[in-house]
Amino acid sequence: MTEDFSQSSSQLSSEELYDWQLRIEEANRCNIWCHCRDCDREWIASANVSCQCGSRNVEHIPCWQFPDD
Ligand SMILES: [Zn+2]
Repeated sequence: MTEDFSQSSSQLSSEELYDWQLRIEEANRCNIWCHCRDCDREWIASANVSCQCGSRNVEHIPCWQFPDD
């Protein structure tokens, strides 16, 4: 992840890099992939929330960490 970051940033113009950083921040704010380990429910949230089943045993992964864009 860290190596990919430095490689791609060196290939971007400052304007593109700025835009890209905004997208990363936006993704971090609004696109947290949540997975409940108890009922196996999956959803997208803007915060680290507990599951609708009441479980707090929830996995939180920012969506931008996934390779697809
Ligand atoms: Zn659940």
